[in-house]
Amino acid sequence: MLDNLEKFCDLKRNIAEINIDPLQRGGILTPQARAALVEWGDGYSVCDFCAGMLDRIKTPPVEEFVHGALPEFLGTDEVRITHGAREGKFAAMHALCEKGDWVVVDGNAHYTTILAAERAGLKVEFVPSSKEPDYAISAEGYIQAIERAYEQKGNVSMAVLTYPDGNYGNLPDARAISDACHDYNVPLLLNGAYSIGRMPVNARELGADIIVGSGHKSMAASGPVGVLGGSEEYAKLMFRLSSTKKNKEVELLGCTVRGAPLLTLMASFPAVVERVRRWPEEVENARWFSAEMEKLGMSLQGDRPHNHDLMFFIAENLYQISLKAKKGRYFLYRDLKERGISGIKPGLTRQFKLSTFGLSREDLEKVLQAFAGIIESYEKT
Ligand SMILES: *Cc1c(COP(=O)(O)O)cnc(C)c1O
Repeated sequence: MLDNLEKFCDLKRNIAEINIDPLQRGGILTPQARAALVEWGDGYSVCDFCAGMLDRIKTPPVEEFVHGALPEFLGTDEVRITHGAREGKFAAMHALCEKGDWVVVDGNAHYTTILAAERAGLKVEFVPSSKEPDYAISAEGYIQAIERAYEQKGNVSMAVLTYPDGNYGNLPDARAISDACHDYNVPLLLNGAYSIGRMPVNARELGADIIVGSGHKSMAASGPVGVLGGSEEYAKLMFRLSSTKKNKEVELLGCTVRGAPLLTLMASFPAVVERVRRWPEEVENARWFSAEMEKLGMSLQGDRPHNHDLMFFIAENLYQISLKAKKGRYFLYRDLKERGISGIKPGLTRQFKLSTFGLSREDLEKVLQAFAGIIESYEKT
């Protein structure tokens, strides 16, 4: 196994002209971040001037970023860098909940919320979403789920809201949900993996006690990197210091991101702040795009009007084509790729999600023309 190792070095990446994969649209590096990735690529590269706390490094200006810029950006008292949204959720649950407690979670939650709870030894009570095509999550649902958890005995020590969820791109009324949770003295963790870095999100305004974001998902960072914020009350517990190792925060295992991913997050940050200001244009593009997709016979699920670039479509017409097309259900992937478009999972036709984030009208026109051209090409046969 240790001969012929050259293949591990020749790592060219073959990417399509336009990528509409929701997972990847918000993680594309800025030119500044791409330069930082190379500059800081060596292992432990940020540790040259560290006196023991990663978030207090002054050169490069990590301290100003973590203790100045990010708390203001997120609207929260304290922020730390994590390896991603999931690590933030786990750290928060592990620090704030006791084994055997209940955590109340929206039915549209990402699988990593469930794994974080499982790893922290917590039981999950779900807030079911409404039925298709809305899949809506309500404050009333949180009240009922908290009540159900209490009826089953035990303590409810956290609620989680996915904002937006990664399937439908739905943005529930976070303020109403945090108010409902606070009526029961339950802190709310807002999972902003798909929002922080794309759209304005302010934890304080939304009533979120804890907030997590994903650098590689939505903040133009290479990752793995994320942010974890909390109001003072909860930050104290999440970021408590070790009793034996000076200046080391237990829940973060001392230091988290020790090099390039953090530097890409920082280098992209000015552009991220700027693009968040342009969010209304992104919503407009998404609404226009989904209306055009519906004219082609596909149906948008989730919030209407839609408030996010992540969109889920039902495409009965493409499914019908797949029943007859060469290569069957792989035809859509192949035909889109031929037209320079990637990002819809191979094999999916009847339902799929995509994102318009950061794409120009011109590129979105190309995507629409591709769908139209594919549908038309099978109508003729
Ligand atoms: C992508 C995603 C995550 C995971 O983010 P990581 O930073 O990779 O851990 C969590 N929650 C939601 C809603 C997501 O879409």
